[in-house]
Amino acid sequence: MSDSPIPMVDLKAQYATLRGELEPAMAQAMAATQYILGPNVQAFEREAAEYLGVRHALGCASGTDALHLALAGLGIGPGDEVITTPFTFIATAEAIRYVDATPVFVDVDPQTFNLDPVAVERAITERTRAIMPVHLFGQPADMDTLNRMACDRGLLVVEDCAQSFGATIDGRQTGSLGAAGAFSFFPSKNLGGFGDGGLVTTHDDAVAEQIRSLRNHGQTARYHHPQIGYNSRLDELQAVVLRHKLPHIDQYNAERRRVADRYDAGLADLTVETPFRRDGARHVFHQYTVLTDHRDTIMQALKDASIASAIYYPVPLHRQPAFADAAVPASLPIAESLAERCCSLPVYPELTDAMVDRICGVIRDAVGG
Ligand SMILES: *Cc1c(COP(=O)(O)O)cnc(C)c1O
Repeated sequence: MSDSPIPMVDLKAQYATLRGELEPAMAQAMAATQYILGPNVQAFEREAAEYLGVRHALGCASGTDALHLALAGLGIGPGDEVITTPFTFIATAEAIRYVDATPVFVDVDPQTFNLDPVAVERAITERTRAIMPVHLFGQPADMDTLNRMACDRGLLVVEDCAQSFGATIDGRQTGSLGAAGAFSFFPSKNLGGFGDGGLVTTHDDAVAEQIRSLRNHGQTARYHHPQIGYNSRLDELQAVVLRHKLPHIDQYNAERRRVADRYDAGLADLTVETPFRRDGARHVFHQYTVLTDHRDTIMQALKDASIASAIYYPVPLHRQPAFADAAVPASLPIAESLAERCCSLPVYPELTDAMVDRICGVIRDAVGG
């Protein structure tokens, strides 16, 4: 039906394609009863490490926990400053708070929406310990410049890869480019589980050992706890789901790019700015986000046509009451302008060309063109 509702994400179609192999695999894991750090978690950690090109991939309970464990595992803590972006989901900066470090928000690049390396450089002080880029909406941040700066200044780079599973820079995976990376398997992410889940990546053996301990109550040997840790493990049943989806992730991301290409063409001559793509980087379109001065008009027209759209994100983090006690800058004009002009359109692998055309048609009628 040409006017059936189009949601932001539709998880049913992907489930239908995997159901035949997933249900017996889930049944087997349920019957095996090794529910905590069982064989599927271990296998998924190996398979994910291989896919991502990292020495270590450690499952944990969520993407938020992955960020927290990455920072804690690197020894970032009280008194340390971590430079990050205000134009992201709150979890990025919450994690900095969890280790009692201070988030330092700097402005973003108007084209990529990612951390602006020039702004980062200006914000470095003697307290700075780390830079935390987010590969927002699946677009890789400028890791080459950030890594060079970090190397010169003796800083750590922690990648928030919650929206970028499978994104690459010159063929190298996000999550393999810094001191540590953090992924989320929240159901709507590019690689999504059937609940919460996360993954920390690192090349460093000692950091991996520390994270392995921290995620499991600070334990080293069974019931030996040299430090306080957390209960943050990837669930065995989630690992079953993720192992069955991982072999398809490149295909899922290619379908997202097909959708993005079709939006680009369908919106090209309208007064909306379509997403920029960096040279040499593979964008995986966790979101397809346009900029427009007619956001209310477009969103209302889409709503009237039963098509979802969303604002990611309406309030930059330096404007959130939760960070009012951080030394937040009075204004970060680019992040604020993006928050006022951004509009995300439906994108998921199973979105058909015909549906994209229908969405573009509604936007065309709304803004004229
Ligand atoms: C989803 C997300 C997170 C948090 O992941 P959860 O698994 O929901 O805890 C962190 N950072 C960004 C940028 C995200 O999009």
